[in-house]
Amino acid sequence: MGSGYEASVGMEVHVELATKTKMFCRCPTGFGGEPNTRVCPVCLGHPGTLPVPNREAVEMVVKTALALNCQVPTDSVFHRKNYFYPDLPKGYQVSQYGETNPIGYHGWLEIRPKGREPKRVKIRRVHLEEDTGKLIHTAEGGSGVDYNRAGVPLMEIVTDFPPDITDPEEAKEYLVQLRLLLLYLGVTDGKMEEGSLRCEPNISVRPLGAATYGTKTELKNLNSFKSVQLGIEYEVGRQIQALERGEAVLQETRGWNESTLISYPMRTKETESDYRYFACPDLAPMRFTAETVERVREDLPESPRARFDRYRRDLGLSDYDAGVLTSEIEWAEFFESALGQGVDPKLLCNWLTGDTARMLNESGLAIRDSQLTPSHLADLVRMIESGEINSKVAKEVLEEAFKSGAMPSETVRSQGLAQISDDGFIVEEVARVIAENPGPSEQFRSGKEQVIGFLVGQVMKATQGRANPAKVQEEMRRQLG
Ligand code: ZN
Ligand code: MN
Repeated sequence: MGSGYEASVGMEVHVELATKTKMFCRCPTGFGGEPNTRVCPVCLGHPGTLPVPNREAVEMVVKTALALNCQVPTDSVFHRKNYFYPDLPKGYQVSQYGETNPIGYHGWLEIRPKGREPKRVKIRRVHLEEDTGKLIHTAEGGSGVDYNRAGVPLMEIVTDFPPDITDPEEAKEYLVQLRLLLLYLGVTDGKMEEGSLRCEPNISVRPLGAATYGTKTELKNLNSFKSVQLGIEYEVGRQIQALERGEAVLQETRGWNESTLISYPMRTKETESDYRYFACPDLAPMRFTAETVERVREDLPESPRARFDRYRRDLGLSDYDAGVLTSEIEWAEFFESALGQGVDPKLLCNWLTGDTARMLNESGLAIRDSQLTPSHLADLVRMIESGEINSKVAKEVLEEAFKSGAMPSETVRSQGLAQISDDGFIVEEVARVIAENPGPSEQFRSGKEQVIGFLVGQVMKATQGRANPAKVQEEMRRQLG
């Protein structure tokens, strides 16, 4: 911080789960659409309706809890969090209260901010609740409520107190790593811009070395990693200035304005007792036996961290390559799927992070929106490995696949691009080039080594680059020797 203050950041992250249906009714989930087209008496909170919990959602939270090294209780209940707001048709949100009641509690996530030591961020809780509707304000000054989102399964992940995160950079890194883990687990689409992943950090500052923490503010409306970092930076600065002026920091919820890059007060923060939490009488307690928990643990997919380590250790990839291939879910899945087709990992990695990445960059396409599939890359690498094509042809064929979606081996077959390794043909071509270039041939014989490049080049030219250059060079030296 510089200025004699230190910051503390707690992270509260809400994650919409990627289930097909809502948490307590069978209405479909989804983003957007005509308002109030995915609703029913249950998610509209009509009297006399009863909730039926979504098993898939519960399983997703258990998975996440275990992946975050949390404890899972044997019994866990749903509570009602009571408050009035138009986006909450029942007048309460079904949520989970208590220290050891949530589906996951007392875990941690390791983060590795660039150029710093790895750090464990303690997780206080991972609980399951339901999302609220959305208020829509029209240009004419009217307001409406869209309940399509009401009742969508929502997972809340909260870091522990005292906070382990002490600056905006770490906060962003925590969110990046958490999101990546959730994507590997397949429990959310993680789209921050669509609100599938919403982060509400709480921020406080205190004089360096002070025994107690300062008053915290909570920040909302952060729709990107960048906003999270900028918002926290701004808030830390604002609080330090207030303290410097001798003013108190108010406990409040503040909004982040993305265009002015300024936070503004929204409301003074409610305290827990305002919510009148109590166990929801409509929902039976959940039971998690040791066997259930162990079964989920055994089925956990590989974490991003474990995959990174495996790529370095077992595949011999560099830190950089392993990082590129594991830190974005699209690349991770693409590489893994192509690798599964039994091709050389290093070659595959080179063609993926090299030419493929360059073409995607130039065209501004994400890999999933391009015509390339893992099979295209596996097919290409297989032909390079077997010597069927050389790297010059591979490049052309990959470009063709990128443009038209053509399978590389098909292009090689239909355009006759297979590398010429036929000895008789190479012997003839070399002899012809020597005969047609008496000058350079003589120079080579009298010790001018570098002329070999020119002579080999003549053979390559005559074969449209399809001759095996190593074989040509070998034969050239033999005939000139
Ligand atoms: Zn419904
Ligand atoms: Mn919540």
